[in-house]
Amino acid sequence: MSKITSFLSPQDEEAVVAAIKEAEKNTSGEIRVHIEAHTDNDHYEHAMNVFGELKMHETKLGNGVLFYVAVNDHKFVILGDKGINDKVAEDFWDTTKEMMQNHFRKGAFKQGLVDGILKAGHELKIHFPYQDDDTDELSNEISKSS
Ligand code: CA
Ligand code: CA
Repeated sequence: MSKITSFLSPQDEEAVVAAIKEAEKNTSGEIRVHIEAHTDNDHYEHAMNVFGELKMHETKLGNGVLFYVAVNDHKFVILGDKGINDKVAEDFWDTTKEMMQNHFRKGAFKQGLVDGILKAGHELKIHFPYQDDDTDELSNEISKSS
């Protein structure tokens, strides 16, 4: 069994998708999770490529957020689109990252992702509150590649 299939059980995945839906009730920001086994590239740069492949730069307000995880590499990246980066301090995601890392170190991957996603929803609320005419601009499903 590859690490990517043991990273989250089907039930865990459902909990993560539920967290994305919950977070998107607080904010017009769109949150996505991408999980893969390994990349030879720099993780941050690679996450930016994934961001593009998932067409995450196409939200109206430029407020997509990607949680990228490279399971075998023990690396993850939180990446916000430019609408977010224009508005928030550079260390905006650091506390979220630290909190997630604490869970990940204990092997609590689902909890790390769920808490990170919900925290992102709350943080984004300040700059990008939920709007009545909100649409689900980006799928809430977890995206994966091996
Ligand atoms: Ca939305
Ligand atoms: Ca969505």
